[in-house]
Amino acid sequence: MTQSVGVIGLGAMGMGMARSLLAKGFSVAAFDLAPQAMAGAAEAGIVTHETPAGVIEASDVIVLSLPLASHVKATIEAGLAADAFRAPKIIVDTSTSEASVSRELAAKLADLGHGFLDAPVSGGPQGAASGSLSVMLGGDAQWVAQAKPVLDALASRVIHVGPSGSGNIAKLVNNMLVACHMLTTAEGLRLAKASGLPAEDALSVINSATGRSALSEIHFPNWVMSGSFDSGFSAGLMRKDVRLALELAQESGCAMPVSELVASLWTEESSGVSDNQDFMLLGRVEAVTKEKTNG
Ligand code: NAD
Repeated sequence: MTQSVGVIGLGAMGMGMARSLLAKGFSVAAFDLAPQAMAGAAEAGIVTHETPAGVIEASDVIVLSLPLASHVKATIEAGLAADAFRAPKIIVDTSTSEASVSRELAAKLADLGHGFLDAPVSGGPQGAASGSLSVMLGGDAQWVAQAKPVLDALASRVIHVGPSGSGNIAKLVNNMLVACHMLTTAEGLRLAKASGLPAEDALSVINSATGRSALSEIHFPNWVMSGSFDSGFSAGLMRKDVRLALELAQESGCAMPVSELVASLWTEESSGVSDNQDFMLLGRVEAVTKEKTNG
């Protein structure tokens, strides 16, 4: 039997996921705080509800795509308070969230017979809209198996990392590396330019050599060298990921000297990029000069 799916949070990621699910034949219910997002969803043929609890009640599998762990927790608690969890449910939380919150929610819902998977994603709004995300899962295998039709509709790569919280840990490690690669790649291209080699030429060499990364291969050509800076991921959300990665390091007693320096360069103050601007602006290649030395 086809599962009914709910999506809560219809932003750059959630709207694309809701549309992908609809295109693949699921009936989709949705909620977002923003009236504009709700209107866009209704226009696309998605059934909108006035509360998140309404979406939970109407759905077998509920996909969350919310900014913060606190929003995820409040959404589940509102659903429990409204008695929306009467029939068995599986929550697939694709938000970039916190392992401790995922473990707490998974334990609480498991006691009531429901599933909770931390399921952060990679692939951006383009991956969400085309159903080709990578999803990294934390949680029990039984819920992963039951949510498989929905996960397969959202993603081309589904990786079950381990128990609850493992998906969040993997995602934060990944995004801390993205934050580092953004700054080191921009710095390398700046050095090329300052030394007389056009940044475009340097980038094409790097992408044929060992200094390459997803940032140099995908992000820089598409959103930096093109001058568009419109990847659909905000600097504010990336700063959240950097903050959460450092908090995880603190909790785990893991020294992260390079990441700490990178985090200090990612602040609004150091970078001049505000939270609501695109995160790719941190990759600008314009030369930041310092006095030349002779010798
Ligand atoms: P976004 O800011 O574009 O959208 C968030 C949406 O959530 C907005 O429409 C907002 O109105 C809604 N919202 C906020 N609080 C809510 C609540 N309590 N109930 C219902 N709706 C609420 O963010 P996004 O870029 O879509 O990111 C969503 C999540 O996915 C974040 O956790 C982000 O870190 C993660 N993520 C984003 C990307 C990306 O490239 N944009 C990639 C991977 C993961």
